[in-house]
Amino acid sequence: MSFTHFLVMPYPILGHMNPLLQFSQILAKHGCKITFLITEFNQKRVNTASDLLRSHITFVTLPDGLDPEDDRSDQPKVILSLRNSMPQKLHKLIEDINALNGDNKITCLVVSKNIGWALEVGHELGIKGALLWPASATSLASFESIPRLVHEGIIDSETGLPTRKQDIQLFPNSPMLDSSNLPWCSLGKKFFQHMVEDTQTLKFAEWWLCNTTCDLEPGALATSPRLLPIGPLMESNSNLSSFWKEDTTCLDWLDEQPPHSVIYVSFGSLASLESIQFKELALGLDLINKPFLWIVRPGNDNIAYPNEFHGSKGKIVGWAPQKKILSHPAIACFFTHCGWNSTIEGVVYGGLPFLCWPFFSDQFVNRSYICDVWKVGLTLDKDNNGLISKEEIRKKMEQLLDDDGIKVRSMKLKEVAKNNLAEGGQSSKNLEMFINWSKE
Ligand code: UDP
Repeated sequence: MSFTHFLVMPYPILGHMNPLLQFSQILAKHGCKITFLITEFNQKRVNTASDLLRSHITFVTLPDGLDPEDDRSDQPKVILSLRNSMPQKLHKLIEDINALNGDNKITCLVVSKNIGWALEVGHELGIKGALLWPASATSLASFESIPRLVHEGIIDSETGLPTRKQDIQLFPNSPMLDSSNLPWCSLGKKFFQHMVEDTQTLKFAEWWLCNTTCDLEPGALATSPRLLPIGPLMESNSNLSSFWKEDTTCLDWLDEQPPHSVIYVSFGSLASLESIQFKELALGLDLINKPFLWIVRPGNDNIAYPNEFHGSKGKIVGWAPQKKILSHPAIACFFTHCGWNSTIEGVVYGGLPFLCWPFFSDQFVNRSYICDVWKVGLTLDKDNNGLISKEEIRKKMEQLLDDDGIKVRSMKLKEVAKNNLAEGGQSSKNLEMFINWSKE
């Protein structure tokens, strides 16, 4: 029997590393050999990988081309540095690994987005390629739509910004979107230009695997035969890597709370609030007559709790085991930034209603699915000063928690999405097909 040797390579942020690690675990369970590439900087920083994981997966590193003190939250800078410094090193790394693995050379490369050049390196070496897109199929299809959007005069070819404000539908069976909420509009011209280039390398990937299901985004999946839903990725109920230490005391605290009573508040690993907005959120949570569990990541010196903030009903931690929290019976709803991993986790671990506060990138599109397509959440609106007020937070949260229709639909969506993983489910079949393809 032949086993494929995969080289799996995420773009170096948590939202990419975790889905690719989970996917690697699944491949390893199917007998495939996995070499997993992370940057040297992240190897030092990250709490990665239990011993169990290390027994299945070989980790290798390359430098990201930046100095240790460089700001790695500057995505265009990271993207450029990787593209300029890594391709030759990757080429040599693959050759070196293959020289050591006589009968079991790397024959398939799986990469996440922003590093499509790696697929070209693989192509030069005669290695098959696949993309594991760690966001929605809709966001991938939106990048694919850029030439058409430019041609139709909807966006500017240089900046990607809308030529005028209008509601658009990217393809049939997708939600209506304000054109200024296209995934690249909040990230600047450099990022847009990079994504245009990166999208061109997609042709080197035979499959565009997505952590989604055929029921969640049918319209997007119909836009290309390469788009293959293999989600929801639920191999492990812990995140396999993190930049911060998980505070597990919140699980004990949750055990003491009544069922369906706690609001879980988390905005992922990247989004940050302005000081004034942070205060409004704190006061908004105080106004809601419910316990809350709030993730406030360490390291943001600009924020301070307002003097009037009680927080007596809540627990605040720096980083938490999110999937375990979402599955906990005490949780009533998920107050989220709508990152795709969080969105999928909220659907499949909790079957939870969502209160949506998108910040940037694809989070606006994800919000449209949550609120307008699946109808399992509500969104917050800004006031005339561009702020989300404490009153708005209180009002929408109370509305959400009173909405029985949303609760019923959320539980139903969880079952529908998870059924894709059962034997004979669409994602299971797609995974099997992908593994067979990798062996050919
Ligand atoms: N997460 C976590 N603990 C926390 C907050 C978040 O493990 O306290 C994880 C969460 O489970 C998810 C990831 O961080 O897998 C966030 O990814 P997402 O795509 O939602 O947002 P991003 O961080 O990329 O903006």
